[in-house]
Amino acid sequence: MGEFDLIARYFTRPPRRAALGVGDDCALLTPRPGMQLAVSCDMLVQGQHFFADTDPGRLGHKALAVNLSDLAACGARPLAFTLALALPRADDAWLAAFARGLMALADLHDCELIGGDTTQGPLNICITVFGEVAHGDALKRSGARPGDEIWVSGAPGQARLALGALRGEWPLPDAVMRIVRQRLEQPTPRVALGLALRGIATSAIDVSDGLLGDLAHILRASGAGATLEGDKATYLIASSAYTASDRACFDIRLLTHTLAQRRQCALAGGDDYELVFTAPAARHAAVLAAAARADTRVTRVGRVDAAPGLRVLDAHGQTLTERFASFDHFA
Ligand code: ADP
Ligand code: MG
Repeated sequence: MGEFDLIARYFTRPPRRAALGVGDDCALLTPRPGMQLAVSCDMLVQGQHFFADTDPGRLGHKALAVNLSDLAACGARPLAFTLALALPRADDAWLAAFARGLMALADLHDCELIGGDTTQGPLNICITVFGEVAHGDALKRSGARPGDEIWVSGAPGQARLALGALRGEWPLPDAVMRIVRQRLEQPTPRVALGLALRGIATSAIDVSDGLLGDLAHILRASGAGATLEGDKATYLIASSAYTASDRACFDIRLLTHTLAQRRQCALAGGDDYELVFTAPAARHAAVLAAAARADTRVTRVGRVDAAPGLRVLDAHGQTLTERFASFDHFA
């Protein structure tokens, strides 16, 4: 199978929304009047972002999911994406599974593959995603204001819990591993929530590197500080609202972890692709209604302060003094 057979077999479909798709020198997208294009790019590198034996279907899903998550954090609606792929070899079974996982998520979000690049090399997957958002409606990192409430979707930290088990840092019962491994390998981009929060949230970001680190990006961009109920965020990991069963919650709480480890997962664990966002306290009910429309659970975990700095509280309202390092490729 040559390069062009491979593209034709796995990555070419008739264009839907795009004026021109795979097969020419450029793809053509026509933005609708009054809309801005939201563009984001994320790369997944073997050994750095995933293990060599990761299921290719899950990898296809994740490569697109992390990009859709950036659109979600901006409140943009997905339109299209490009795929730049370096492959060690043209392995039919691998490509078929990868394309299946990728296209299933793409179809779910009506996001079409419009082009890319394919070359031989160490496995590397780079997707650029294009979305649309009405002029002025994009959620940015810079809009948080003192007094705003801080919210998170889902239960940040579950992906880190799975990663720790895969690395042998702690044991996890099979039933729990099945749940949290799904978060690590097949995260759900919170696109519907991002769309529902337009006009309500004052700022947003997706949690890729860790809750504290990503929240700090919002605070820096907004010139504000915050108080985070750290243990409220930590308890989400082991709340039955966020796992499939009471049994699994019990397992997470009692069998596997010290509180310190769970804090590390929830506050500094990356790769969950949940949203952290701020909204005025007066819009509390509007946030809950938006989350219900998006069928996504959200929890208020703090407030924005005028004073700079990020204060993290334990369950008793005492300031936590431990350090929680977010993920940094070059640290
Ligand atoms: P060019 O030489 O102009 O860069 P290529 O020969 O690399 O074009 O690619 C041929 C066509 O196939 C282009 O339209 C390109 O966008 C598309 N393409 C290449 N690789 C992929 C891929 N992995 N997924 C989708 N489209 C691809
Ligand atoms: Mg090319």
